[in-house]
Amino acid sequence: MMNDESYYDKKCIREELDLTLSLDAPHRAGIQFARRVRLARVIGLAAMFFPVAGILVTHFLAGGWWLLLVGWAFIWPHLAWQLSCRASSPHHQEIFNLKMDAIIAGLWIGVMGINALPTTALVMMVGMNMMGSGGCRLFIPGIMLTFLSALLTLSPVGRVVVINPDPVEWGLTLPVFVLYPMLFAWLSHRTAVRLAEHKRRLEMMSTRDGMTGVFNRRHWEMLLRNEFEQCRRHNGTATILLIDIDHFKNINDTWGHDVGDEAIIAITRQLQISVRSGDAIGRFGGDEFAVIMSRTTADSAIAVMSRVHERLEKLSLPCAPKETLHISVGVATWGPQFGHYREWLKAADVALYKAKNTGRGRTEVAA
Ligand code: GH3
Ligand code: MG
Repeated sequence: MMNDESYYDKKCIREELDLTLSLDAPHRAGIQFARRVRLARVIGLAAMFFPVAGILVTHFLAGGWWLLLVGWAFIWPHLAWQLSCRASSPHHQEIFNLKMDAIIAGLWIGVMGINALPTTALVMMVGMNMMGSGGCRLFIPGIMLTFLSALLTLSPVGRVVVINPDPVEWGLTLPVFVLYPMLFAWLSHRTAVRLAEHKRRLEMMSTRDGMTGVFNRRHWEMLLRNEFEQCRRHNGTATILLIDIDHFKNINDTWGHDVGDEAIIAITRQLQISVRSGDAIGRFGGDEFAVIMSRTTADSAIAVMSRVHERLEKLSLPCAPKETLHISVGVATWGPQFGHYREWLKAADVALYKAKNTGRGRTEVAA
């Protein structure tokens, strides 16, 4: 039950809305996925170039194989990224790219003659990428594609299986074993942090009023229900306030909606600096606000509101300095006569109605 003044950042809320509500959201998610894989692919394949080249140099292969190796290690990661960016479904394209990775890895395993160390490194890389991108559903076909491609390449190339690597092979492959899992763990961590932040923003958006940053009506009513249950269980003390700006339509009509919005925000700030940090301010929509004051009697709530009335008398809006804002307030303290939180709210509403009917600019307490 906190009113966090600093959280309200229109730009970040707008970006989040764009991302979440846009019809393009699956496309953007696909691009983000492809971007994550791109980094792993660029670094992973560049690192794998050296152990694979170290083996191939001893096989005296034709120049075409070397071109293929350079293309795979240094050009394919960028080509795969471009393909994903341009695809109508980047996610599906990236899954296709990952399967291509698995097939090409199998090809090099076959060409090298299932050389133990680089083969293990390639299988590890394909396995991590597949498992990290699509779980077992992608891992199993990925490993099978690598295996099949290795088998198909091995027979025409006719290489022998090398189990005992020499020190040069160790030296070229060990960095891949050390660095690639670290890179993968870092990428996973970064994704987890982003998802947590995304979740936090979505929670903010679902509980806050977009213009003022205070709680929206739905969330405020949920807090009221909790407060009501607390009071009923422990015979506690709590007071709620319903606040409505007086003659707000006149402000809109005279100065325009922008100034009206400015007035709503100005009153919100006055409420925020007047109540305790544990009190819950909500905007009911339009020019109506509500506050839950836990462990507070009606007298204390009235004292707080008289400070707000005084502050508003002195407040001038930058775009309409001659305009003075006034509010009417209805106050209701919890009592055992309320069988439901809505009855409590209704009592505050009746008090607000009374404040409006007895001259406005005042605070009235429920009978
Ligand atoms: P009263 O003293 O009886 O409350 O009179 P009032 O003119 O304030 O009447 P009421 O509370 O019914 O008017 C609310 C007006 O607030 C109606 C609507 O045009 C305006 N309004 C609602 N939401 C917004 C908003 O987000 N921005 C602005 N500028 N105006 C809004
Ligand atoms: Mg009003």
